[in-house]
Amino acid sequence: MDRARPLPARRLLLKGAALAAVPYTLLPAPPAGARTGVVDYPKAEWQAASGENRTAAQRPDEYDIDRVIIHVTQHAYAGTLSIFQNPKKRVSAHYLLRSADGHVAQCVRESDVAWHAGNWDYNTRSVGIEHEGWVEQPEYFTDALYTESARLTASICDRYGIPKDRDHIIGHVEVPGTDHTDPGRQWDWVRYMRLVGRSSE
Ligand SMILES: [Zn+2]
Repeated sequence: MDRARPLPARRLLLKGAALAAVPYTLLPAPPAGARTGVVDYPKAEWQAASGENRTAAQRPDEYDIDRVIIHVTQHAYAGTLSIFQNPKKRVSAHYLLRSADGHVAQCVRESDVAWHAGNWDYNTRSVGIEHEGWVEQPEYFTDALYTESARLTASICDRYGIPKDRDHIIGHVEVPGTDHTDPGRQWDWVRYMRLVGRSSE
């Protein structure tokens, strides 16, 4: 996980003013998940991050989505949810997977920008997936974690037309300018990419 600067408020105000001129009947339905917990990935459980820890956006219209970024939390699952829910932490990810069973929590809508890459450009263009565990403790990288994460990544790639390759499915360590090392050398990329290639929605 990491932090990044938020979008300037002025841009949001201008967007609101522009929308006010559109006839009501032409507007798409409001993002239901903001209120009711509807998720972008059917298997996910909605566990909202604080609104202070993300940037509201209209992706992929506002920004192209062409990357999935893989993280390892360095915190336990419940502790990570608490961090995302704490408005002082200034950090979030779209998804968090639990080590033991591969359970998927969605914390930020895919249309919004989560703050996980530590790089504004990469935050705007990516979906961030956190995995419960520690980079030097591969026992956290369970079969269930790999399998469920690969299914989620495949779904994201299918829905946005992202190639299922290592140029587009990257580790936090590969984000330009980062000082983070996750998911670390214990993460089995060969196995993971094979699972992503086999998975479909
Ligand atoms: Zn990370």
